[in-house]
Amino acid sequence: MRLILLGPPGAGKGTQAQRLVAKHGIVQLSTGDMLRAAVAAGTPVGLKAKDIMASGGLVPDEVVVAIVSDRIDQPDAKRGFILDGFPRTVPQAQALDRMLAQKGIKLDAVIDLKVNEEILLGRIATRVAEMQARGQPVRADDRPEVLKQRLDAYRVQTAPLAGYYAKKAVLKSVDGMAPIPQVSAAIDRILAQGTAAKAAPGRKKPNKPSRKPVRRKRAAAKAGKARTGARKAASAKKGSKRGAAKARRKPSKSKPNRRRRLTKAR
Ligand code: AMP
Repeated sequence: MRLILLGPPGAGKGTQAQRLVAKHGIVQLSTGDMLRAAVAAGTPVGLKAKDIMASGGLVPDEVVVAIVSDRIDQPDAKRGFILDGFPRTVPQAQALDRMLAQKGIKLDAVIDLKVNEEILLGRIATRVAEMQARGQPVRADDRPEVLKQRLDAYRVQTAPLAGYYAKKAVLKSVDGMAPIPQVSAAIDRILAQGTAAKAAPGRKKPNKPSRKPVRRKRAAAKAGKARTGARKAASAKKGSKRGAAKARRKPSKSKPNRRRRLTKAR
């Protein structure tokens, strides 16, 4: 399974990715985590990314594309992966398309966690305050002013990706403001639909003969029956003993004919 989780910072991509990792035995490829590790290790990539990340901006496309390409080639990503935080720009998405085509990999879904930005900002502020109160370390870029910058970057550079993937008909949207279990259930439903469609690719309905002629014949037979019935009724009403007896004794002539015609048509 190969997925992309889209959504602004704080939308719950990380939470959902971790759950999917445990459920499907795939890996979470978070470019944010990879870059933070590079910064901590002081690698050349980390040195390039450090200040940009601290200000809430985006690291250059070629830097992130290169680290994602290397990561996808690792053995643990062979079973599948969730891209979390990548792609973040249309050029990154285009580079990813080319990269996956070269590696012979196909995406299963792009899931967009839709959120209300104002509520989101409030939520993150509360979470940060709670962490600080517990004495837990808080990410420097979760500070309100940097977070605002990250959300702006998302709106301008990342949000257009929804249109990009919608055009490719792989985009699925989920209400990211719903409680976590509901978001998880919605994602699971999307993935189950994808798996079902994959299990039966291009499945066609069995070839059935056209029902049209049958219907016409049925309608004609019905009309004939109605006419026969009306004639019988009229004859019985007239007091014709012969007609009335005939109507009682003999089944409608049209019935066996109609059956024969329908069998033939099938
Ligand atoms: P995240 O943990 O995904 O919110 O990412 C934290 C920071 O890492 C972002 O604010 C960016 O500075 C940088 N970053 C992560 N992913 C990307 C990406 N795909 N492209 C550019 N910068 C990124």
